[in-house]
Amino acid sequence: MAEKTGGRLESLVIDAKGPGNEDLSIDIGWFGAENPRRALLVSSGIHGVECFAGSAIQLQLLDNIPQLSSNCALVLVHALNPFGMAWLRRFNENNVDLNRNFLGDENYAGAPEAYAKVDPFLNPRSGPSSDFFLLKATWLVLRYGYTTLKQGVAGGQYEYPRGLFFGGKHLEQGPEKYQSFVGQRLSSVERIVVVDIHTGLGRSGEDTLLVEPEQYAQLRAIFGARVAPAVEGGPAYRVSGAMGRLFTRVLPKAGTWFLAQEFGTYPPLKILHALREENRWHHYGAGTLDHPAKRRLKEVFGPDDERWRRAVLERGGALVKQALEFLGSSPSESWKDNKS
Ligand SMILES: [Zn+2]
Repeated sequence: MAEKTGGRLESLVIDAKGPGNEDLSIDIGWFGAENPRRALLVSSGIHGVECFAGSAIQLQLLDNIPQLSSNCALVLVHALNPFGMAWLRRFNENNVDLNRNFLGDENYAGAPEAYAKVDPFLNPRSGPSSDFFLLKATWLVLRYGYTTLKQGVAGGQYEYPRGLFFGGKHLEQGPEKYQSFVGQRLSSVERIVVVDIHTGLGRSGEDTLLVEPEQYAQLRAIFGARVAPAVEGGPAYRVSGAMGRLFTRVLPKAGTWFLAQEFGTYPPLKILHALREENRWHHYGAGTLDHPAKRRLKEVFGPDDERWRRAVLERGGALVKQALEFLGSSPSESWKDNKS
């Protein structure tokens, strides 16, 4: 499909299979300049099952590739976690949350104190069951506080390999291949905007743009009030090993602007419950797709709701347009290319 619209397609095949024993790959559509000075990269599905919204935005773009200036490339990266998308999981073939996996030189070890405390509740060593999740979760929130718990649980951990939000023990195969791709193919860029699409955080049908705290003021001035810093106590939390770090590491000379576009779906505890039950089914059940735990997980990250889907396409399309305008502009006093 990318080729039909004048682009080039590249696939990074990973060593894992889908439910029909099919090969799995990260597919990358490249449009515009071969050695660009400026690039907009739109990626989807680092969290597997969250990929459906991102895919839809990417397909919408393929239907109508924007005009690009001669030094600019548009790069569409589909399904950074193809295993998770195929198997309806947030995590990859090794149960790794890939958006906690980019630690660079840091040690892949440790877990927040709060995570250790709630591990038996969060990750029961048994298949899915009705076990008063909401009641117990509410009690834990009252006991430890919502912000502490949210940060401790979802920010990433490196000690419970079958648990939720496990960041791995080393850089996983998909991220490693993607990192080489970015380092080689985008080495000419001077400015790059990355839009990484997620679902499951915020109010239903609305989007939040999560950014590094250092870039918050500048990005808010450009992209408006839906920009929020990814910090403890914010609408999300601080994430260890987040993917944005890959770009500053492998493209040290470029000004990198990273936005995680998060579309809200359902309330956080409903999502956590769905993640917990699917994880139990994966590790302590048959793990097949024909289980309510899989259907629920798909629903909480990609609601079967026309209005929601229309909002995603509209806001996704609008952000791409804004990002291209920003890319084409020249540096002003209100912002400077950040070369950290
Ligand atoms: Zn996500």
